[in-house]
Amino acid sequence: MRNARYRPATEALHAGEDIDPVTGAASAGIVTSVSYKPKEGAKVFSAHDYSPEMGFNYIRWGSPTVRALEERIAALENTEDAVAFASGMAANTAVMLDRLKAGDHAVFGNVCYPGVAEFAHDTLPKFGVKVDFVDPSNLSEVEAAVKKGTKLVFVETPANPILRLCDLAAISKIAHAKGAEVAVDSTFATPVATNPAALGVDFVIHSLTKFLNGHGDVLGGAVAGTKEKLRTLRGETRIHYGQNLGAFEAWLTLRGLQTLFLRMEAHQRNALTLASFLEQHPKVERVLYPGLASHPQHDLAKRQMKNFGGVLSFRLKGGERAAQTALAKTRLIVNAVSLGKSKSLIYFISTTELQKASFRLGPQDLAKYREWAGDGVIRFSVGLEDVEDLQDELNRILG
Ligand SMILES: *Cc1c(COP(=O)(O)O)cnc(C)c1O
Repeated sequence: MRNARYRPATEALHAGEDIDPVTGAASAGIVTSVSYKPKEGAKVFSAHDYSPEMGFNYIRWGSPTVRALEERIAALENTEDAVAFASGMAANTAVMLDRLKAGDHAVFGNVCYPGVAEFAHDTLPKFGVKVDFVDPSNLSEVEAAVKKGTKLVFVETPANPILRLCDLAAISKIAHAKGAEVAVDSTFATPVATNPAALGVDFVIHSLTKFLNGHGDVLGGAVAGTKEKLRTLRGETRIHYGQNLGAFEAWLTLRGLQTLFLRMEAHQRNALTLASFLEQHPKVERVLYPGLASHPQHDLAKRQMKNFGGVLSFRLKGGERAAQTALAKTRLIVNAVSLGKSKSLIYFISTTELQKASFRLGPQDLAKYREWAGDGVIRFSVGLEDVEDLQDELNRILG
């Protein structure tokens, strides 16, 4: 493994994909073999001893196409290494299962991807892990929650679905001062916007399902960090829980990544145009997009993000009912879950439902959440369509 040789947009095309020494092929192939003849002298008895430098032996330990993707993600995050997983959830939970054990204490951001929130609320306590939830945009809350002996601080920025940010450099400083490690789910940011490892974060987590693959046809995840921090994540947690990515998914993601920088530029351009348009629209109550001057943390966004991303959230003056009426009229923009693909997706996320199912905020935090989101937000993953067609569609559905 190596650190990045070229600028990130170049690495997005090349890292992990060298000319095949046997066939001369200039594009990555898909290797699906389960077994590999070990390199001479390679110790292949226990997964605990495994490192990618030993070559390949059994597909669950590692395989060539997946390894190529890991090298590319590490290059994009400018970290020593990366480990690929079968999904973004697998990547997130692997970090928790790898770093936490019974009796440990962890601090989680209280607004994030619902699957992660539910795992932290429901599953970690089953393993005897004590979890506290904070608003990570408030550094004094983080400072108060991280105690001596806290093992992990886990945040997401921008956080789903309200695009609240947190200051990764400041949080890393607070956590490290008390001996805790920091993990960030950087799915919404992508490596185009932010390289969290450079800000001190120990585990940089991505759902490849979103912008990194970018075409809405792959489920995958990855964690980037130092070789040492990823050693047990690869050699024990992933191999023994069996959360591996498939070769075909790795290959599609390698292809998707080739256009990551171009796509993010276009996602941002369209999102900024439509965020400004929605902000002026008489039926719209509020727009949340890190690239808007009206975002409460726009200064932090400018400092921490080189690209403001492709997701915006907004709410209508008529509340939930108006949102449902508008979304029922969509034709071009698909009214469905997920985000970060080439084509636009839009979805209503009710505050009441999300609180009940996933976030379970206390009264004070719920009041803060409602200040941002009201009864709910329309999450809009802005695609690469001609922005005028998207604007026409918004005009029509808001009618
Ligand atoms: C989608 C998503 C996940 C989960 O990823 P999957 O690939 O669906 O398992 C985790 N975090 C964030 C921020 C996401 O958007």
